[in-house]
Amino acid sequence: MTTAILDLAKTRVVLLDGGFGTELIRHGFPEGACPEAWNLEEPEAIRAIHRSYFEAGADAVTANSFGGNPIKLAAHGLESRCREINKAAAELANSVKPAGRFVGGSIGPTGKFLKPQGPFTEPEFEAAFAEQARGLTDGQADFLIIETQYDLRETLCALRGARSASPLPIFATMTYNRTPRGHFTLMGNSVAVCLEALEKAGAAAVGSNCTLDSREMAALVKEMRSLTSLPLVAQANAGKPVLSADGQVVYSQGIDDYVKYVPEMAANGANLIGGCCGTDPEYIRRMAEILKR
Ligand SMILES: [Zn+2]
Repeated sequence: MTTAILDLAKTRVVLLDGGFGTELIRHGFPEGACPEAWNLEEPEAIRAIHRSYFEAGADAVTANSFGGNPIKLAAHGLESRCREINKAAAELANSVKPAGRFVGGSIGPTGKFLKPQGPFTEPEFEAAFAEQARGLTDGQADFLIIETQYDLRETLCALRGARSASPLPIFATMTYNRTPRGHFTLMGNSVAVCLEALEKAGAAAVGSNCTLDSREMAALVKEMRSLTSLPLVAQANAGKPVLSADGQVVYSQGIDDYVKYVPEMAANGANLIGGCCGTDPEYIRRMAEILKR
């Protein structure tokens, strides 16, 4: 098992990449299409996005595989090509990876619910995530990152499934909403419950991504650090999505305000820091300046 990225994270903050969706749209991605299918159909666009993040100073980028589990791919009739699509995703990122940098295989949620809220069983989720992990491992990802998870049970299925199929280190990051009673996932899992369960299930790193802006994420990092000694991942959104006058989705936290909280995130104990929705290579370039100063 290669843990080089975690070895690096022991010596300094590791910089991850930022949002992918808006970058895809910038490269002409049509609404409603399957982002992961572009690994096969538009490989040059995917390479260009990864290259822009490496050039901005990211130590690691995540492959274009967020929705690449077979349950999600089924919406586009692509479930039988899961392994091929994920292998291509990791290979594309690797093809533009400079020496000493890393590629993570992104594993997002299925978008479906387990019984009793939905139709799926835990073994079905595990098998789906195992198949995705197989493809990402075929494509030589350096690590796997299970991210934007809102259901601890599904996240544990992803961890077990990925571990059954891959020797790679597995990171797991949940997305939390801030409430007057503290931070909870959509399914009501608290930070303490998530961190304990993920650690017990063998996650190599834990953390949070999405939903919160960078100021809120810095505060959450402090809470997470008090609950675990594992390496911590933090990838905040650039605020909340809002509709602009011309109907475009824009994010409410500007770049200057966003990067202002990056030193606090690091000081509070984050070991791997990147961006999420609304962030782009320019955000990562500014973060690189701050973190590598
Ligand atoms: Zn996000």
